[in-house]
Amino acid sequence: MIEPLTASPESIVAKNYAVIEQSPLSLPVAAAYTAALSSHPHLADIEILPMPDDSASPASARPSWKSESGHSQVFLHVGNLDKVFSMTKFAIDTVPGFAKRFAELYGIEEAQVTPQFKYVESFVHELGHADEYAKVASSPETFAIANQRAKASMPLGSAAVSRLIASGTPHHTWLHQNSAALLARTGASNVDEAIGMQHDAYRMLPSERRADLFAANVFAANPELLDLALKS
Ligand SMILES: [Zn+2]
Repeated sequence: MIEPLTASPESIVAKNYAVIEQSPLSLPVAAAYTAALSSHPHLADIEILPMPDDSASPASARPSWKSESGHSQVFLHVGNLDKVFSMTKFAIDTVPGFAKRFAELYGIEEAQVTPQFKYVESFVHELGHADEYAKVASSPETFAIANQRAKASMPLGSAAVSRLIASGTPHHTWLHQNSAALLARTGASNVDEAIGMQHDAYRMLPSERRADLFAANVFAANPELLDLALKS
């Protein structure tokens, strides 16, 4: 059994569990938080906050040097997750190689890469970003510049895959209006293939790769967590 760490009611950790409690998938997310804390105790310093409702992302992270509290923050989508799950399902169904990449990372079947599993996994991935923020906090500008450069070098520039695939976004319009030039530049034979290349490049960005491996390691050290997330 993964038991929550004991925490005084006022502590950040206790407040974080209270936010997680608002998620329909609070059981696996709380277990994931407990598992990450036990291997990375300094994460007790990060704040978990509810994600603004207009976002369709499962989770996101904000570094300490950009937060008002001075703590790094992980935002978790809580409440109704229909929009989050349908966006993730769309990515699973339409981005070439999406499910395969995560299936390989976790040693699971592609069919097990569900929106529910990705929700729990994304939360731990964002904790991985918070873990990196703590290590680069003394030189945030160097970190930001390196990140921007790495993103700009992706096949379709720094455009996020979630925006490229969502019709109605400026990124989606840009991609389709400039598809001939972009296909020539990337060597992709169609727009879907170019999006798959962009996703592969994104996952290999140093910070993203690091956060993916952080999450995979947390799950690998806690097989019962993987079972919980896969059953959610
Ligand atoms: Zn990330």
